[in-house]
Amino acid sequence: MVTTVDIKAVVRTGRSTYNFGAGPAMLPESVVLELQQELPNHHGSGISILEMNHRSADFQRIINQAEQDLRELMLIPDDYAVLFLHGGATLQFAMAPLNLLGSRSSANYANTGYWSARAMREAERFCTAQVAVDAYESGYTEIPPEEQWHVDKAGAYLHYTVNETIGGVEFHWLPDTKGMPLVADMTSMILSRPVDVTRHALIYAATQKNLGIAGLTLVIVRRDMLQEVPASTPTMLDYHEHIRARSIFNTPPVFAWYVAAKMLGWIKAQGGVAAMAARNQRKADILYELLDSSGLYRNHVERNCRSWMNVPFQLVDQRLEQSFLQKATDTGFAGLSGHRSVGGFRASLYNAMPEAGVCALADFMREFERACA
Ligand code: PMP
Repeated sequence: MVTTVDIKAVVRTGRSTYNFGAGPAMLPESVVLELQQELPNHHGSGISILEMNHRSADFQRIINQAEQDLRELMLIPDDYAVLFLHGGATLQFAMAPLNLLGSRSSANYANTGYWSARAMREAERFCTAQVAVDAYESGYTEIPPEEQWHVDKAGAYLHYTVNETIGGVEFHWLPDTKGMPLVADMTSMILSRPVDVTRHALIYAATQKNLGIAGLTLVIVRRDMLQEVPASTPTMLDYHEHIRARSIFNTPPVFAWYVAAKMLGWIKAQGGVAAMAARNQRKADILYELLDSSGLYRNHVERNCRSWMNVPFQLVDQRLEQSFLQKATDTGFAGLSGHRSVGGFRASLYNAMPEAGVCALADFMREFERACA
């Protein structure tokens, strides 16, 4: 059992584990408790949010507040539309080119990891995806400096994945596109630190990491980007239609939207994105310092692009992997296995992971290393 867990919270919710999973990911204890308390009877309405009509006044209040909070937290200007859609970030891999290509037949992609490559492969169905920069040869452990990028001016936009959830590689700088529209997959870092929205034409993020549970995807799009959407675009894939319908073109994932609204309120109560960033940096530093000073654990990512959100690591002696995982699980740490495509381990440190959780994990890892010596 993890000793640093807040005992009162454990008693109330029965939770005794720190979840380091990459997504669906940990929610704040207080949010889970609120969901639990409100579930049977939503604010005296006599029904549960699970049963609530998506066009009811009660639900409208929730989604209006969610949009207002998001705009406030991310400083989103009025010339950007905010959408709450279905289909995960994966659907945005297709919706971005479908809506933004216009008359152009190519787009630029920065290939910095598994998810960039997935986005690029999907775009290939609709256009030529030009590889602006390719970190594949390095094993996706670095982001080459911008001087080495080749952005084709004929492309409709430049796409980048701000945080590679599997590789643990994160941009700590913004590509300077010299006027070319910039498209960002922010799925695994949204609201973890301040981002200049105005430097982007389109931002998308699934919500199951920093913003609640799976089922909802956030889209922030500059309205002037949508002038040339082909008439043949299916309605459900057309940002225009979703803007017109205020994200209720069909039945939305009501519960996921409600949880996202709760998460936005929670982030505000924590002091907003700047406060989250300060905390997230401290959490990441704790783990990287441990990895760098260890003889047993290794992280292969270049220091200048190490992720604050996902920290992958390997054990130098692979024979110890099973025992490490078993002991970690027994101690109260869940979700530490690396992605199935790369193996090893990964600690995800999203907004909801408290510093105490990271300290407890670091203590455990030090103790495991001492015991193995
Ligand atoms: N992009 C990134 C950076 C991700 O981490 C993920 C999911 N882990 C996706 C896209 C795909 O998201 P979804 O499963 O919601 O389609």
